[in-house]
Amino acid sequence: MIKDIPSGSEFDSAAKAQFDFAWDIVISFLQLLEEAKDSIEVEDEDEKAFWETTRQRILTSLIITQQGVELALKGKLVAVSPYLLISGNHSDWPKDIDGSGVSYSEFRAIDAQDLIRVHDTVHETKLDSGFSELFEKLRKLRNKAMHTVDKDLNVSAQDVVLILLEVHEHLYGNENWIVTRRDFLNNSPATHLYLVNDHLEGLVVKEFLTVFNFLKPAETNRFFHINRRQRLYLCPECKYESDKYESIEPRYAVLRPNEPNSENLFCFVCDSLHPIERMNCLEEDCPGNVVSEEYGFCCTCGVIQGVHKSLNRDRPTACVFNMSVQF
Ligand SMILES: [Zn+2]
Ligand SMILES: [Zn+2]
Repeated sequence: MIKDIPSGSEFDSAAKAQFDFAWDIVISFLQLLEEAKDSIEVEDEDEKAFWETTRQRILTSLIITQQGVELALKGKLVAVSPYLLISGNHSDWPKDIDGSGVSYSEFRAIDAQDLIRVHDTVHETKLDSGFSELFEKLRKLRNKAMHTVDKDLNVSAQDVVLILLEVHEHLYGNENWIVTRRDFLNNSPATHLYLVNDHLEGLVVKEFLTVFNFLKPAETNRFFHINRRQRLYLCPECKYESDKYESIEPRYAVLRPNEPNSENLFCFVCDSLHPIERMNCLEEDCPGNVVSEEYGFCCTCGVIQGVHKSLNRDRPTACVFNMSVQF
């Protein structure tokens, strides 16, 4: 008897935990550099030296990503039949010596290079060729990183972020990576030590602002459904959440639909629409006329609009209102 047979969802959870770990490594370097640049002047050669010292860890994040992809593919096979993963001759199978059964993990699993072929044989919908190429590239890079100390093997933190967004999209379709990352942050070891973790949403905002700022327009369109040619506004909810933690400007929301009389801003981090009111901002130098109905500030400059505004008639300012909700 074969015992301890894993389920597809167990493989999925393990795969996503690997993606989260890899993401954690590279995003921390990108933010570390960003924070340094906000407070001091970072010379080009210092930045180069910074990235040089991160090299091995970034390669490790790539190896972890590759492991995550393999686990995700295994999950897709196990969802059809767990026996698809077992390879080798029957005569080499482990023996059930004491009659208590043989653990599934004792069987030899099929090679990583065969995962896509097996997947495409048993699933009606095949993995697309873009994914196959990415998987092969990743597998080769991983093998190089594991078996050589090639000085020319350079993968940037941005490369790993892009690879993660891409593999997640291929493997999990419409499932939102931001939601997964948020769940991991909300269940991170530190959250079990502190009673108040209301800064976590601010962390999500900060991470995805960093990513949004380095992605190319075609990439923000592909992964976050944001057309960079549209005017970008502060997301009121992301700004409110991040202000609890530190003052940053999550300027990545867009009018949806993109029309002069549009009544909503779409934010890809919140993955929702935020109602807005058209009124001229009270700040002298601000040309903005898009004010958040929920939070009462101008989505162009971030300044809270006056207490006389009809939209805030139940509350002096939206921020005071929201703080009262917390307590
Ligand atoms: Zn938002
Ligand atoms: Zn304004």
